[in-house]
Amino acid sequence: MICPNCESRSSTVKDKRLVSPQKVVTRRRRECNECKTRWTTHEVLAGNIDIPEQSRRSGEKET
Ligand SMILES: [Zn+2]
Repeated sequence: MICPNCESRSSTVKDKRLVSPQKVVTRRRRECNECKTRWTTHEVLAGNIDIPEQSRRSGEKET
């Protein structure tokens, strides 16, 4: 994770908690080891979320 302030790659996770009841979103508090900036990230597990399917193939005909 890159620091939003100084773009250092060296950061420490201070706190971690699951946000959603489905446990697919993790909130992490991070602190940069270089400039001590703190920020929060939300990490989402890809592939574990219900995304409304819009992918009905339009070329198909029902006969
Ligand atoms: Zn920094």
